[in-house]
Amino acid sequence: MDNATRLQYLEAMGIDVWLSRTAPDQEQPSVSDPDAIAENIQPEPESIDTWEALQAEVAPCTKCDLCKTRTQTVFGSGNKKAEWMIIGEGPGQNEDLQGLPFVGKAGQLLTEMLRAIGLDREEVFIANIVKCRPPSNRDPKPIEIETCKPYLLRQIALIKPKIIVVLGRVAAQALLNTEEPIGKLRGKIHALNDTPVVVVYHPAYLLRSLLDKRKAWADLKLALQIYKKH
Ligand code: URA
Ligand code: SF4
Repeated sequence: MDNATRLQYLEAMGIDVWLSRTAPDQEQPSVSDPDAIAENIQPEPESIDTWEALQAEVAPCTKCDLCKTRTQTVFGSGNKKAEWMIIGEGPGQNEDLQGLPFVGKAGQLLTEMLRAIGLDREEVFIANIVKCRPPSNRDPKPIEIETCKPYLLRQIALIKPKIIVVLGRVAAQALLNTEEPIGKLRGKIHALNDTPVVVVYHPAYLLRSLLDKRKAWADLKLALQIYKKH
């Protein structure tokens, strides 16, 4: 496949084509101008992050102890240009085995919750605070959260969602840097930089607590309202 065709494919898939700077149809420095060539082969400045770079860093990551017990990292899945970003706590057993977020029972309920506000799973982006499964599904430790969170913040910066829905106490406290209980975090609009954040009960918890399903529905409707205003 020639370069132009490959770039077209990548573009069609929504992959940022940062290589296009040197694509054949772009102006090339003249060979007689060594300065221009030197400038052209400068690496990308570090401040320019790419999805590919981020994925390549996360996949083999061994920055915290969770790497020792995971099967694989779970980067997240969905639309890289999503307007909605959904953030959970960390992979469970099914997610660890499949390499995808929210594929177990809680994931099925999440899919239904999204459907209820008119969203397809494929149109949102779903990620977790930690990318590796905590053993026996224990809560991720503060050090694990702090170590892994920069990956999530980079995902958020690349996607630039219009709204973030964060699921459950652990994820909400981690994302919002707070120790407030979930009962106080839900039902309000928070912000991460300029992005509105709504806290919703975790679907795994909702599977056990019928009573709070109503509150979760109210919070999803709140998220939809805020999304429509933006
Ligand atoms: N629970 C989570 O918080 N995340 C998943 O990916 C699956 C279950
Ligand atoms: Fe790396 Fe995050 Fe996995 Fe820890 S949880 S090993 S920081 S990807």
